[in-house]
Amino acid sequence: MSDDCIFCKIIEGKIPCAKVYDAGGIFAFLDIAPVNKGHALVVPRAHHATLFDLSPDMGRELLTALKTVGQAVMQATGAAGLNVGMNNYEAAGQLVHHAHFHLVPRHAGDGLSLWTQHAYESTEEMQKLAKAIKAAIG
Ligand code: 5GP
Ligand code: ZN
Repeated sequence: MSDDCIFCKIIEGKIPCAKVYDAGGIFAFLDIAPVNKGHALVVPRAHHATLFDLSPDMGRELLTALKTVGQAVMQATGAAGLNVGMNNYEAAGQLVHHAHFHLVPRHAGDGLSLWTQHAYESTEEMQKLAKAIKAAIG
């Protein structure tokens, strides 16, 4: 629990929300400003800032929640697709510093375009970057 965290306050019931899931260490509610209606946030109860602060031990119940809530969101909204997203750090658009996953229901032709893609300068540049990432993994 972090005193100045809006999601901790929502999870503790101090701020109202449209709750859709509450099991074990995972809580989910509807985003107040949805990309599409039914847009849900899946949030570990414990206050951790980003993906990198979450324990791998949480993986099973997190994936269970993402699948359960994701499927229910699709069913309830009649969506044909679902985007799962997570913003980590402000440079990636993270506004609330309590780790959370976005579940955004998608409809054919809804006009959303999430990513702008680019090309590498060369295959060499791409391979060099892959090598650096592999080295960082160790
Ligand atoms: P982020 O940019 O940090 O990944 O996303 C934070 C999300 O939380 C935003 O999509 C925003 O609309 C949502 N949000 C912020 N404050 C509240 C709130 O008080 N209630 C609800 N339900 N959602 C919120
Ligand atoms: Zn928090």
